[in-house]
Amino acid sequence: MKKIFLLIYFLILTLTPSNNLQCRDIKTESAIFNTLVGGFTSGIGAVINKNKDESYLQTFAKGFLVGSAGGYIMFHGKKLNRLISTEQNLSYAYASRFVYSIGNSIVENGAENINFWDKFHYDFGFVRFEVNTNKFSIQPEILPLTFIGTIYLATKGNLEFKKTIQSGTFIFKTDIYANPEDPTSLDNFGALTPVNGIVYNAESEYYDFNFMMAHEFVHTFQHQDFSGINLFFKPQFDSLKNKYPKFNKLCQWISPDLNVAMFYLNYFVIQGGLSNWDNNFLEMEAEGVIKL
Ligand SMILES: [Zn+2]
Repeated sequence: MKKIFLLIYFLILTLTPSNNLQCRDIKTESAIFNTLVGGFTSGIGAVINKNKDESYLQTFAKGFLVGSAGGYIMFHGKKLNRLISTEQNLSYAYASRFVYSIGNSIVENGAENINFWDKFHYDFGFVRFEVNTNKFSIQPEILPLTFIGTIYLATKGNLEFKKTIQSGTFIFKTDIYANPEDPTSLDNFGALTPVNGIVYNAESEYYDFNFMMAHEFVHTFQHQDFSGINLFFKPQFDSLKNKYPKFNKLCQWISPDLNVAMFYLNYFVIQGGLSNWDNNFLEMEAEGVIKL
């Protein structure tokens, strides 16, 4: 039964808005997309993590409702990134991420089948700060895939310390003018956001820099959209933790971020990647939700 729910979830992924969808009211699409992703992530996660005495349908319905609310809040968090552009100030990235993180935490709590207020997390680059609201404790955890991505960014450019502190996300600047025929060359881009971290082309400082950054900050959130799937594997993780005490200790400091892989699957396979920029939903969302 749980496997069927899992299969349904991955089928839903293929229904994310793509180029065959002609309706281009991007804010409505984004609201629906985030609400549904939140709902299904929580609903299916809750079924996977349900207690033996709970019914499948009731647990799914409860998780779906909680996750839908969380997803809708995530949409509003993404939208708040427009303030970076309208107020010409990177610090608004803290406000937008705070709102987004409330929604994202609710989705994760729903997927874990716990109270929606039990945990809250806020990510600074590759470090996730997890707050347990019952114990009032804060635990920093490393996000492994995001860490690898940040190392990659560091090889592309120099850390912009002031902008990083100002925005709460690692920001690098580059003046590499590599082979323009190479599609990954930064020559062709204002900025790249391969994880929760950004590298921008020094040339782009001359254009509308804050509008571009608002767009990139939406991308940093998109990497987290599917973070609830990490809870799909909680039963397996828990049994490994019980078996190996050292693994259990390590897990206190590491938080899996399979959601990064989900972003790549969605961006490159389902949405057609960079060559499909004009019809790629993730690009349209990043561009559309920050407009007034
Ligand atoms: Zn983009």
